[in-house]
Amino acid sequence: MESIDSYRDRARTWLAEHAPRADIEADLEAGRDFQARLHAAGFAGITWPAEYGGQGLTAEHERVFRDEAKRYPLPAVPFAIGIGMAGPVLMDLGTEDQRRRYLTPILRGAEIWCQLFSEPGAGSDVASLQTRAVRDDGGWVVNGQKVWASRAHFAERGILVARTDPERPKHSGLTMFVVDMRAVGIDVRPLRDMTGNVHFNEVYFDDVRLPPDAVIGRADEGWSAALTMLKHERVAIGTRNRSEATPLSARGLARRQGAPVPSEVRAALGRLAVEERAVALLAARMAEERAAGAELGARGSVAKLASSQLARNAADLAVSLAADRGIGFEAGDGRTAELITAINWSPASGIAGGTTEVQRNIIAERVLGLPKEPQADRDVPFNRLTVAKR
Ligand SMILES: Cc1cc2nc3c(=O)[nH]c(=O)nc-3n(C[C@H](O)[C@H](O)[C@H](O)COP(=O)(O)OP(=O)(O)OC[C@H]3O[C@@H](n4cnc5c(N)ncnc54)[C@H](O)[C@@H]3O)c2cc1C
Repeated sequence: MESIDSYRDRARTWLAEHAPRADIEADLEAGRDFQARLHAAGFAGITWPAEYGGQGLTAEHERVFRDEAKRYPLPAVPFAIGIGMAGPVLMDLGTEDQRRRYLTPILRGAEIWCQLFSEPGAGSDVASLQTRAVRDDGGWVVNGQKVWASRAHFAERGILVARTDPERPKHSGLTMFVVDMRAVGIDVRPLRDMTGNVHFNEVYFDDVRLPPDAVIGRADEGWSAALTMLKHERVAIGTRNRSEATPLSARGLARRQGAPVPSEVRAALGRLAVEERAVALLAARMAEERAAGAELGARGSVAKLASSQLARNAADLAVSLAADRGIGFEAGDGRTAELITAINWSPASGIAGGTTEVQRNIIAERVLGLPKEPQADRDVPFNRLTVAKR
């Protein structure tokens, strides 16, 4: 196995030569090309098993790569659901065939994945979902509507949770599936968010046929599969490697300041830098534990909550600086549009992957051991609940 020092040197040299210097997230083909080269160079799926396209290395190798990579704006977002959520779920619950079929293309950026959980009536309470999958001719036929599906407009694959037995209580009778997003009957309708960009989508299913081997885990046991994916999602968001060069980072905001910088502004930027460092250290520690195979459980919610509060605090500081010092802090470098987009995007971090309130509930119940929220509908057959709602 390659030594840590040699891996660090190789990562540093490779990134210096190949990593983008500016954000290329908007250019999907450039992102895919970069991800393929990252994989070929041995820096994607660092701790994933070699038989599934990973590098089969240790948590320490992953840590040194993260450390080197944080100086660059790597195009990680399009691949985040595949690498951070779908891949780990397939490793936990997939068949050997599914792992061999799907994992390597995820790491190479050849297949982008989306998550098809939320519906107009099922967000925080995702077990209320109504999309139906009915057994037919050995496979399944799906009808229904999903919403807020990030990157579904260019994803090749999706992970869907659908109701397969409405006679059972709402947390059972669900099944998780792999969906080919190009299948006949899938209609993806992009939604424009308040930054003006398209990030998420509505996805309609009209008699979409799925083969029998599309099931992930076991039929009718999709709730525990969904919880597994949500757990990976919180950890993926909470342990994300943040570039030091984003518009809302302490460094990014400091760069916009025209001299002289008042002492209260210096103090506020200093506080933000400290908070960033604390969140980065928490993220790095959890990433290392996860790469070493530890079960993070509800602690993933702590990391997720910390990172979304950091995003919120950074945006609040940027807004108050804009009010006091001029919109893009005009005397500084002034790339106003970029700053406004980042500010407008910041509330998303307290909603995506489970809202701040939901993370607090999880921490209260599973980390602090406080009493559980009452759930009057827990054991009632889903059919009876939906009739009652109407
Ligand atoms: C940027 C972004 C990307 C997303 N990407 C995806 C994706 O790829 N796939 C996907 O399936 N979904 C995605 N979502 C959807 C996201 O998971 C949901 O928006 C989220 O779970 C909240 O659901 P909701 O919007 O229906 O709000 P609701 O669940 O209706 O919540 C409304 C309010 O009530 C509060 N609330 C709800 N329940 C409780 C409770 N028990 N205790 C206290 N407060 C509560 C919430 O915190 C919130 O403030 C994305 C959302 C965003 C913003």
